[in-house]
Amino acid sequence: MKLLVPVKRVVDYNVKVRVKSDGSGVETANVKMSMNPFDEIAVEEAVRLKEKGIATEIIAVSIGPAACAEQIRTALAMGADRGILVEQDGVVEPLTVAKLLKAIIAKESPGLVIMGKQAIDDDMNATGQMLAALMGWSQGTFASKLTIEGDRATVIREIDGGLETVSLSLPAIITADLRLNEPRYASLPNIMKARKKPIETLKPADLGVDPTPRLTVLKVEEPPKRQAGRKVASVAELVDKLRNEAKVI
Ligand code: AMP
Repeated sequence: MKLLVPVKRVVDYNVKVRVKSDGSGVETANVKMSMNPFDEIAVEEAVRLKEKGIATEIIAVSIGPAACAEQIRTALAMGADRGILVEQDGVVEPLTVAKLLKAIIAKESPGLVIMGKQAIDDDMNATGQMLAALMGWSQGTFASKLTIEGDRATVIREIDGGLETVSLSLPAIITADLRLNEPRYASLPNIMKARKKPIETLKPADLGVDPTPRLTVLKVEEPPKRQAGRKVASVAELVDKLRNEAKVI
């Protein structure tokens, strides 16, 4: 079974993001970029399925500027076999990503797509669900455990009230939650080996998809600065301040 793993290039999770002075988005010039953390978890899960002999090939796909090849290389160094880069500068919306992935699925016929539950840059949490809808495939979102047996997948999902177990027919879309696994670090020999693995480069037009955005971002702004806290000497003083200053009780 082939696995498709979409990996997004995002601002590294350690970077304190800054809003561009014109309010049009977040500053990405000279900022460290990395693979979306949930996508690392998806790659790890795919590699574990290959190690168990369930998957035969792992294809990492990234959509965005040419620099996304770096994130594909990271996936290749973790254990993916080959990459597909769909080059598109500027904003690429979840629906466009889902349509491009659908076109890649038509070419590659994977048995399973494992992706992140959400990209940490714009927190859309939409692409996996949209792809499942476009394909008419089952979806197991927010997966914290994945088991494949024959032509079915069992997914334990993290939901508000606890854990939900669903059984899906394959092919299916799985989106990875934080506790699915702990991604490995790529070893130096594997980083070297990854340099030789193939990456195919395509344009959205090659896949018959129009990447023009349908959404317009009106404004991006920083959250209001938090005021410094104050220490109180006693519970009585705290209650007094909550009642008479903050007027919340
Ligand atoms: P989102 O719906 O934008 O929060 O993203 C959910 C998941 O979809 C991500 O974790 C990725 O696995 C995948 N994804 C979204 N955008 C891209 C992209 N430009 N390239 C590759 N994968 C993507």
